[in-house]
Amino acid sequence: MSVQSSVLGFPRIGPQREVKKALEAYWADKISVDELLKIAKEQRLLTYETIKSQGVDFVPTGTFSLYDHVLDFSATFNALPEAHANSGLSALDAYFAAARGHQKNGVDLPATEMKKWFDSNYHYLVPEFSENTQFKLNNTKPIDDFEEAKAAGYNARPVLLGPITYLWLGKAGKGASAGFDQFSLLSKLIPVYVELLNKLSQAGAEWIQIDEPILVMDAGANYAEQFKQTYTEFAKAAPSVKLMLATYFGRLDANINFVKDLPIAGLHIDLDRNPEQLNEIISAVAGTKIGLSLGLVSGRNIWKTDLAAAIKTAQSAIAKLGAERIVIATSSSLQHCPITITAEKKLKPEVLDWFSFATEKCAEVAVLAKALTNEASVADALAKNAASIKARRDFEKNSDPAVRQRLAAVKPEDLNRKSPFNVRKEVQQKVLDLPPFPTTTIGSFPQTKEIRVQRAKFNKGEIDQATYEKFIEDEIRDVVKRQEALGLDVLVHGEPERNDMSQYFGERLSGMEHPDSAWVQSFGSRYVRPPIIVADVFRPEPMTVRWSAFAQSLTKKTMKGMLTGPVTILNWSFPRVDVPRELQCKQIALALRDEVIDLEKAGIRAIQVDEPAIREGLPLRQKEWSAYFRWAVDSFKLATSAVDDNVNIASHFCYSDFQEEATMQSIIDLDADFVSIENSKSDAKLLKAFTNKKYPADIGPGVFDIHSPRVPTAEEMVARVREMTKYLGPHQIWVNPDCGLKTRTWNETTAQLENLVAAAKQARQEFSA
Ligand code: GLN
Ligand code: ZN
Repeated sequence: MSVQSSVLGFPRIGPQREVKKALEAYWADKISVDELLKIAKEQRLLTYETIKSQGVDFVPTGTFSLYDHVLDFSATFNALPEAHANSGLSALDAYFAAARGHQKNGVDLPATEMKKWFDSNYHYLVPEFSENTQFKLNNTKPIDDFEEAKAAGYNARPVLLGPITYLWLGKAGKGASAGFDQFSLLSKLIPVYVELLNKLSQAGAEWIQIDEPILVMDAGANYAEQFKQTYTEFAKAAPSVKLMLATYFGRLDANINFVKDLPIAGLHIDLDRNPEQLNEIISAVAGTKIGLSLGLVSGRNIWKTDLAAAIKTAQSAIAKLGAERIVIATSSSLQHCPITITAEKKLKPEVLDWFSFATEKCAEVAVLAKALTNEASVADALAKNAASIKARRDFEKNSDPAVRQRLAAVKPEDLNRKSPFNVRKEVQQKVLDLPPFPTTTIGSFPQTKEIRVQRAKFNKGEIDQATYEKFIEDEIRDVVKRQEALGLDVLVHGEPERNDMSQYFGERLSGMEHPDSAWVQSFGSRYVRPPIIVADVFRPEPMTVRWSAFAQSLTKKTMKGMLTGPVTILNWSFPRVDVPRELQCKQIALALRDEVIDLEKAGIRAIQVDEPAIREGLPLRQKEWSAYFRWAVDSFKLATSAVDDNVNIASHFCYSDFQEEATMQSIIDLDADFVSIENSKSDAKLLKAFTNKKYPADIGPGVFDIHSPRVPTAEEMVARVREMTKYLGPHQIWVNPDCGLKTRTWNETTAQLENLVAAAKQARQEFSA
């Protein structure tokens, strides 16, 4: 009996970004729907061929998506918001409208809410439910995808998002009554799944993978009854189907106690993130008929798998359960990895050899399964893998003593500013000389086409450094002039030299690598290229001082230095796995500390260290939050605390989810002098957090939405400030947009900021008494 292999999903972009390009062309009316669907089909088939040709037994179907797999299920289950579903648009355009809004030919539909997919950097579209939700099989996408793969000769295993997780990911939508509980819909949803399972089975599916990642969350424990009810009905109504219940991104913990009693044929577990759960899971399923799918090859990082170690782990499972009950798999879908290392042209071969992207991970899964059946058959592959793992381990042992010693020598008092906030505020008031309700922006100004063209030319070597820098200086001169004309109080240099707020720093830090084709989906057609941390991180030379000092030289007003924080740089990278994330974060923090000190020396009196990703790094299990927040907060403080009292340290967050006490407390603990927060879409939600917990320092909840070209009136913005004064002292409040303005045009930005400055003046009058 040979051990079988599977992968749980694959990147959707296409090796040459075919799908992304086709989507954007379709949205811009440059290609027809038929052309879009043809490209999508080609890429699906190419994906199946890639997976199969690497030697994997089961090929997943239904995981390809034109935008988002959660939204796919909403469309299939007839659960798009009513306005979108009944818009008169085609089914596909209604789907895209729910994904990204639609404003054409008199149809005006907003995008639905997007949220992070568990602790990954992928974002899904939040389903909206109400008492009126009428689930039914609205399309046959899961079946079509399966049949397409089967017809093309692949051993397909359909993948469905499980009903408990699907409901849990959603929220009460329009028309829902107060107190509506989306789980009240479960009994209406089960028959639709049953229909789907039976149709898939009739179409020839033997196994069906059903994803219930909620089982690795604390919340999973609340739904034991629902799991039992749902899966019992599945087994009764679709008895011929073998269900592979998939969990990923964490450990089941006590949830295994009810999962083991479910009538399922297989259980997939994540042994990349939580290898330690294996023994407990084995004991739990030993007395059942449940087979185990061992997620040994990481779907979340880009490191080569240590195959020898993985074989040992798998053998321990085989010894207890027998080979026929074991499948080897990726820990999660591979959609969180780039497609292949063979596309990388810039990285040194010895570095590239440490990595394994989606295609190479398929091969690892296949080699592991074969090794467990007959080790000699893959002896070459195993030997090569062992040599590569050894080379990387040897390299990793080579830590940088200067960086390590410096970090080890950090004392607790190094994390603290010289004086507490109230003392600093007085000192800073003298230096900064700000009016009440000071105005500022978050950092970036419109990244015009001209900026992108010049940067591309510089990167291609078409213009020299001096020419490029002169261009950037002119841009800075321009934004300083514009801000002075607008009458803003604390100015920024506009970030024209930055491609991306995290990449810009990554490229200037030693210890990080930058693959050039390693695209990973953030949402829809938006892809990012996260850097990879490979070694101890340090700052070889100043990264931003030149531009900030230049900008300050152009004005008497305070110029804000602008850095990306250590937690955000870490969370938007692929971290090393040989040392804890905490250590990597603190190394980045020390590098930034040097930058902060240099900015201070260059005469900069306000420094903003952005941490938009601090909250997204939250562990899935609440009991791990406090440890995470501790090192995250310490890293920020390590980066920012070396300056004198007279320097205003600011931070910025692109979310307003402060409902959890711990998040709010962590923002307080940063001990920044001023924080700006995205707020314009949800003021009540954000501001209510302040009734429970007072924020002690200065704060600027955004007064307009930077994602929209809309120009709110000054009166609208004053109203927001007035609302804030119900929760915050007038002396604490700054007036600023939600976030950076890089995606806006200058016309929009100018009009928006004119009204913002007028709003601040109005607030000063109203509250001067
Ligand atoms: N300083 C950055 C900007 O203004 C902040 C971006 C962000 O928070 N995502 O663009
Ligand atoms: Zn932001």
